[in-house]
Amino acid sequence: MSSDFKLGTLCVQAGWSPKKGEPRVLPIYQSTTFKYDTSEQMARMFDLEESGYFYTRLQNPTNDAVAAKITALEGGVAGMLTSSGQAANFYALFNICQAGDHFVTATSIYGGTYNLFSVTMKKLGIECTFVDQNASEEELNKAFRSNTKAVFGETLSNPGVMVLDIEKFARVAHAHGVPLIIDNTFPTPINCRPFEWGADIVTHSTTKYMDGHATAVGGCIVDSGNFDWDAYADKYPGLCTPDESYHGLTYTKAFGKGAYITKATAQLMRDLGSIQAPENAFLLNIGLETLHLRMPQHCKNAQTAAEWLGKNDKIAWVSYPGLKSSPSYELGQKYLPNGSCGVLCFGLKGGREESIKFMDSLKLIAIVTHVADARSCVLHPASHTHRQLTDEQLKEAGIAPDLIRFSVGIENVEDIIADLEQALKSV
Ligand SMILES: *Cc1c(COP(=O)(O)O)cnc(C)c1O
Repeated sequence: MSSDFKLGTLCVQAGWSPKKGEPRVLPIYQSTTFKYDTSEQMARMFDLEESGYFYTRLQNPTNDAVAAKITALEGGVAGMLTSSGQAANFYALFNICQAGDHFVTATSIYGGTYNLFSVTMKKLGIECTFVDQNASEEELNKAFRSNTKAVFGETLSNPGVMVLDIEKFARVAHAHGVPLIIDNTFPTPINCRPFEWGADIVTHSTTKYMDGHATAVGGCIVDSGNFDWDAYADKYPGLCTPDESYHGLTYTKAFGKGAYITKATAQLMRDLGSIQAPENAFLLNIGLETLHLRMPQHCKNAQTAAEWLGKNDKIAWVSYPGLKSSPSYELGQKYLPNGSCGVLCFGLKGGREESIKFMDSLKLIAIVTHVADARSCVLHPASHTHRQLTDEQLKEAGIAPDLIRFSVGIENVEDIIADLEQALKSV
C-alpha cells in the first residue's frame, strides 16, 4: 500500500492488502511452522538467501503485516514486532552494542527502561551514561566515548511527560557517528514522527496507545534506513562484517537499508526469541485501526483535565506539555503541534500522603499499573512503577515523591472531572 496515503488511511488499511478471495480482515496465522515442497527450498531460507516463513519465532505473516502498518505510520523502511516494549528497547540497542560498548541516554525515561539500562545491560558489559535531556549540546558532547554506539531518549518521557529536543539529540548523535534511537510510545506517529526530526530508529511499547484497550503486551522496532552503518564499519562489525552464524553473510551488503531489522530478526529473535504472539498482533492491529481517532480525544480530554486541575487550589502543581506553565511547552509546540498524549502528572498540596488519599477516593478513575488506554487511570510512581529507585534516582528521573501519573482516557470528560472533584473533596 502506498505510503502517500494519510495517517488515518494507513491506520485502517496499511500492512494487509488481500488478493482475490482472501480474507478482508488480517487473519491470525496461528501456526508455529510453514510447509515447503523440497528440502532445498527450506535450506535457502535458513541461509537467508530467500525470504519466507519457516518458524514463527523468526517471522509470522500476522506479525509482519502489523509491523508493516507501524512502519508505514512512522515513515520507515523496515520494522518488526517484539513480545513487549522492554524487548523492543533491549533489542534496538543490543543489535548494535556488545560487551565493552557504551551508549548515551536521557535520564528522564520509563522506570523499566532505566532499570534495563542501569542494572541488566551493565551486567552484560554494556555501559551507559545518563544525561539531562535539557543540557546544552556542549554538555551532551562530554558524555561520548570512543566506544559509544548509540543515543537513546523518549519523545515524551514516562511519567514526567517532558518533551525531548529530538533535533538536538540527533545532531549530537550524528556528530559522533552514532544513530539516535527514540522511544515514541506516548505520542505515537499520529502526534510525532521522529524520523522527520533526524531520529534513525524508533521503538514502541505497543501495549499503550497503539493497542489502546489494554488487551495485549507488545513492542515494535522501526528503522528509518537513514543511518549509514558502512560509513562507520569499524564501530558496527555485527552489521558490516561477515556473520559466521550465517556462512559469512554481511548484513549491510546483503540487505542494504533492511540490514538492521534483518539482523535483529535473524540473530536476536533466533537466539533470544521475544516474538509477539500472532494473536496479540491481531489485537494490536484492531487497536491501530482507530489510533488516529483516539489520540485527538485523549489529548482533548487531557488538556481539559490539566487546565481544570491547574485552577484547583488543592493542587500544588500540574505538568502537561499543553499547559503554558509547562517547561516543555515550547518544545511541545514544535514537536507535537497537534497534541502530545493523554498522560499528565500532578501533585497535591500536602504531598505524598494527600496524593495517596486522593487516589484511594477515586471511583471512575482506577488505580492500575497501566497507562495510555481507553479507560482513565492513575498510578503513584514512587510507590508503584519506580519503587525500586532511590530518592536520588527518582529526582534524576524527574519524579517527585508526590507525583500522580494520570492517564486520561476517552470517556466523557465531564465525568472524569466530576470524579476528580469528588475525590478532592475527601482530602
Ligand atoms: C510501558 C513502556 C515501556 C515498556 O513496555 P512494555 O510493553 O510494558 O514492556 C517502554 N517505554 C515506555 C515509554 C513505556 O511507556
